Amino acid sequence: MDERELFARRLGISLPWHVEEVEMVDGVYIVFVIYVGTLVYCPTCDKKADIHKVEKCSWRHINESEEPTIIHCDVPIARCKKHGMMQIEVPWALFHKGFTEIK
Ligand SMILES: [Zn+2]
Repeated sequence: MDERELFARRLGISLPWHVEEVEMVDGVYIVFVIYVGTLVYCPTCDKKADIHKVEKCSWRHINESEEPTIIHCDVPIARCKKHGMMQIEVPWALFHKGFTEIK
């Protein structure tokens, strides 16, 4: 299993999310994730929505038993006919509670 697969498992990432690259910089894992889907689901009503644009976001995870991890991802912004524009949820924030978004 390569590092990308390992991180995909560890972070709960599966299609349409994809771990594109993993780097180790000064003892910190930098994980680049991309969204490979062509549409998204509205986080409120769960209906199919268009991808309005993507937003560059980063998260940091610190866990005493593992090396610190930073995730970078262009997160799709859904445009729902009813609910407007909203960032969709990312799997690692749901799966792995220790992630904090870096603003
Ligand atoms: Zn909606």
